Amino acid sequence: MTELLFRDDAYLKTATARVLAVHDRGLELDRTIFYPLGGGQPGDTGFLVRASGERIPIGDARKGATLDSVLHIPAAGAAPVRPQVGESLNLEIDWQRRYALMRLHTALHVMSCVVIAPVTGGNISPDKGRLDFDIDMALLDAAKIERETNALIARALDTETVWITDEELDARPDLVKTMSVQPPRGVGRVRLLKIPGIDLQPCGGTHVRNIGEIGPIRVLKIRSEGKHNKRVEIALAG
Ligand SMILES: [Zn+2]
Repeated sequence: MTELLFRDDAYLKTATARVLAVHDRGLELDRTIFYPLGGGQPGDTGFLVRASGERIPIGDARKGATLDSVLHIPAAGAAPVRPQVGESLNLEIDWQRRYALMRLHTALHVMSCVVIAPVTGGNISPDKGRLDFDIDMALLDAAKIERETNALIARALDTETVWITDEELDARPDLVKTMSVQPPRGVGRVRLLKIPGIDLQPCGGTHVRNIGEIGPIRVLKIRSEGKHNKRVEIALAG
């Protein structure tokens, strides 16, 4: 089990950790700032730095076999390094990339309150993000979505993390907008992102502290990806 430091503080750029296990595919640590791929947000990249100063480039982070475990996957082409179990490492994430992902991820939360329709999918990369909606194409107006999303972002509200029990979530099915990604059940509690007065929904990803940090967004394109998937793609404008 890995302590997920990004869950309580998404702004940690460095940390120290010990090696728990070395697998063929990647390293498990006792704590981490690397967000593993999930909920449409890609895994973090960065470095694990040994006491000798040797830097192990990490090309991806993925969920491991057990709950809350994270595999730190060495970048393709990196020289093979096998740290020892128990060895202490310094962790560094590619902060510029992660911060762009956090801003875009939070922007999608805001946009999901401008387009009122069930969300059927979503994805984020460092340069753009998208949500798919089950909605009539004629109801999607790029200029209007951009204007209304930017007006909400300009309110510069602080975001909050709220935890509720599985039972509380079961009693509030309206909280779950995303049909394709149901929040994990059976852990006893579910993490929600709250943007006061704007949005409240289950999400395990990393978000900015204040939506003003997103800055203006622009709608790149709107297109149909099928009967129930109308895709709205956005990018950070600044
Ligand atoms: Zn989120």
